[in-house]
Amino acid sequence: MSAIDEIKQKIDIAEVIGQYTTLKKAGRNLTALCPFHSEKHPSFFVYPERQSWHCFGACNTGGDVFAFIMKKEGIDFGEALRLLAQRAGVVLPARTEPGIKKEEKEELYRANEAAALYFNNLLLNAPAAEKARDYIAKRGFTPGTVADFQLGFSLDSWEALKTHLLERGHREADLLTAGLLYQAEDGRTHDRFRGKLMVPIRDSRGRVTGFGARVLDDSLPKYVNSPQTPTFDKSATLYGIDRAAAAIRQQDMAIIMEGYMDVITAHQNGITNVVASMGTAITETQVSTLKKLSRNLVLAMDADAAGEEAMLRTVGYENILNSEIRVVIMPEGKDPDDVIREDINNWQKLVSRAVPLVDFMFEKDTLKLDLTAARDKSLAVEKLLPVLAGINDPIRQAHYLQKLAGLVKVDMNTIKVALSRLKQPPARRRAAPPAPVLHLAKDRPEEYCLALLLQNPELNEHLEELDAEYFENSENRVILTAYKDTPDVVSLKERVDPAIHEHLDTIINRSLPALRNNLGLKFIDCVLELRKRYLKSLAARQAESGAIEDDQAWLEKDLETIRRQLKELDARRSRKHNSS
Ligand SMILES: [Zn+2]
Repeated sequence: MSAIDEIKQKIDIAEVIGQYTTLKKAGRNLTALCPFHSEKHPSFFVYPERQSWHCFGACNTGGDVFAFIMKKEGIDFGEALRLLAQRAGVVLPARTEPGIKKEEKEELYRANEAAALYFNNLLLNAPAAEKARDYIAKRGFTPGTVADFQLGFSLDSWEALKTHLLERGHREADLLTAGLLYQAEDGRTHDRFRGKLMVPIRDSRGRVTGFGARVLDDSLPKYVNSPQTPTFDKSATLYGIDRAAAAIRQQDMAIIMEGYMDVITAHQNGITNVVASMGTAITETQVSTLKKLSRNLVLAMDADAAGEEAMLRTVGYENILNSEIRVVIMPEGKDPDDVIREDINNWQKLVSRAVPLVDFMFEKDTLKLDLTAARDKSLAVEKLLPVLAGINDPIRQAHYLQKLAGLVKVDMNTIKVALSRLKQPPARRRAAPPAPVLHLAKDRPEEYCLALLLQNPELNEHLEELDAEYFENSENRVILTAYKDTPDVVSLKERVDPAIHEHLDTIINRSLPALRNNLGLKFIDCVLELRKRYLKSLAARQAESGAIEDDQAWLEKDLETIRRQLKELDARRSRKHNSS
């Protein structure tokens, strides 16, 4: 069984979604106010039997547990996979290096290095970089810092970097692979970064793996990173690790901040054991890298909801570290960057007072509760007990169980009973039959359809007819979306998360019956089958949930279209048969 299937089997979608919104029973299913759009009457449904969800309201979308986490956390499939793997206690296969030779990779590092030098020169000398220099001055970065971190500027031009690097003998194909250029629909290549402040991102060996870029006006998004490339993997990257590793080992403490600007400010002020995750979510790979330098992790994220969420989510990593993670509590409304610039002594004081993450959770989760009321007491236990259940160290676990018992003024035995109940797997898991992974042809029309497509490039002309929403499995959606982006099987593997590689291989290598000239028909047949399944399940779920009945009209119309398409298909098929 693949890791993805294992996660799906171990995780209960209702439990996961229940952490984000309050689910109420509705027959065999559960319903809630949609966590993605604001509404007064619930149009969001969870289907425990199918382990799926759907919003019939403004979102009109749904999927499996991965799709939910991706949408809710704004992360890609790979990140959602790692998050859920950790939750389910499933070990993911080691990340494999994309299939690229060492010399080719060296070439990418050389191109990045040359680009960093070019951007840095522009920042220092180009008249067009005035805005960037103003920003640097406003941020208080010294010339020494600009040199140390090799900050730069990209001209607001489509070809400046490309021309510069081609003149110096770099190959266009390498620049594309390195993510410095991108290919437009007409096939032409352009500079990816234009008119931005450039921050080279280096690995622990000091090689430039990619770039972070910040806009110099009010446009959004404020920050853009290099795409995933053979040298740049966002989820494995720790910004500043090349300059921080020695200090982290020496001081036996690593401080994780949110962004590269925070790290640069910290280093300029003499705080050198600091790195940044790329974006708010901290990944298992990042924690594993730091663990080799120190088990002492301190989080200093922005004092906003996203920062807090990111910190709370790292609690599972304590078991990997075999040590507790601590959190720096920021003064109201201030970010680490502000505090460091204002008063370095105050910063040191805050770090020395960092609180254990679990204590931080106690505070956050009970902040709005009235712990003298019975209802709020059980709410507090409901929120915190799963966290405490996940602590491996029995002494630490006992410590926090006592803290929880004291907090809600309930005796320890009651808490222990609740804990043992929590540890029992839900009925669904015990009753679940082993997943029928081997009966691919019969049980997995999704994979069959994908196999047809990926093994027969001539089917690309029908690509538009297959919608990713027809797939229930997120991994299939990811593969299809990447393939639709660039319909090329050879590069497909590099463009999807390594965790899906095994699944992708199975699809690409699957043996299919020889279909020859009725290949197109076979494929459309398969697409229509999936489309029918999708619409049928929508209709069934709506009927079951009794949701939005007056909206059935569009569904009827859609089913009507399907019937017509099927009829046409039959007609086409018999014509073919007659002519051959
Ligand atoms: Zn919705």
